[in-house]
Amino acid sequence: MVRKIAIYGKGGIGKSTTQQNTAAALAHFHDQNVMIHGCDPKADSTRLILGGKMQTTMMDTLREEGEEACTPENIIETGYEGIKCAESGGPEPGVGCAGRGVITAISLMELYDVYEKDLDFVFFDVLGDVVCGGFAMPIRDGKASEIYIVASGEMMALYAANNICKGMVKYAEQSGVRLGGIICNSRNVDGEAELLEDFCAKIGTQMLHFVPRDNIVQKAEFNKQSVVEFDEECNQANEYKILAEKIINNNNFVIPEPMTMDELEDLVVKYGLID
Ligand code: ADP
Ligand code: MG
Repeated sequence: MVRKIAIYGKGGIGKSTTQQNTAAALAHFHDQNVMIHGCDPKADSTRLILGGKMQTTMMDTLREEGEEACTPENIIETGYEGIKCAESGGPEPGVGCAGRGVITAISLMELYDVYEKDLDFVFFDVLGDVVCGGFAMPIRDGKASEIYIVASGEMMALYAANNICKGMVKYAEQSGVRLGGIICNSRNVDGEAELLEDFCAKIGTQMLHFVPRDNIVQKAEFNKQSVVEFDEECNQANEYKILAEKIINNNNFVIPEPMTMDELEDLVVKYGLID
């Protein structure tokens, strides 16, 4: 059965980068069939898989060509190692609700049974600064069964992660969605791994993996590639390979217990974080 995974986290934390590299590692090192569905109006969830190409989004196609044009053949592109890519896109800036685009896009994909066809993994790349409307859909309506949150040892990243957990608690019982862990995408903050371990213990989950910060991520990006494609031998590619393996073998799925604001502030004070 295909595993549907939503990756959440604060804007700029490294969701799209981590997710594309993990998808590349799953496909390249572990021979998995993977699809990425970008659910961020920025529509930059698939570029590193498609050689830098800005993919035409489903919302653009809907607006310009109508619903008949939104077929899998028109909106899904295939990139590195056969990874399937789709982008929801968003409304024209200032017009309408971005979350609605996600709802429309996921519903269309389901209409065509796209997620079920010969796939091992589908990734939804969802922003996590707000957990409302379409952005809550993978949590709320059981579109995804597993959530991973990308965070770092920065106050606002933890704050967003905790908020996403609060959103999950509301819907997990009915939708069946579970938290599979926190992925630390390092910002080289002092004591970061310990802080994240502590945070994870408090909300009842695991730190699935600690992804180091490495300039090769930027180098690969300049070359319009994932790190895995750019240099499969480098240390960072190996980190994504390990992360991919941990996702394959994960069996730690929980309904998280989010912290109160006071507890979160105490934690931050304990580690001397001031943002
Ligand atoms: P998000 O999708 O959460 O908004 P992105 O994946 O676009 O964030 O990441 C923002 C930037 O951070 C990217 O342009 C990327 O170059 C950089 N980045 C992400 N992860 C790493 C890392 N592990 N090491 C170095 N740079 C990183
Ligand atoms: Mg992104």
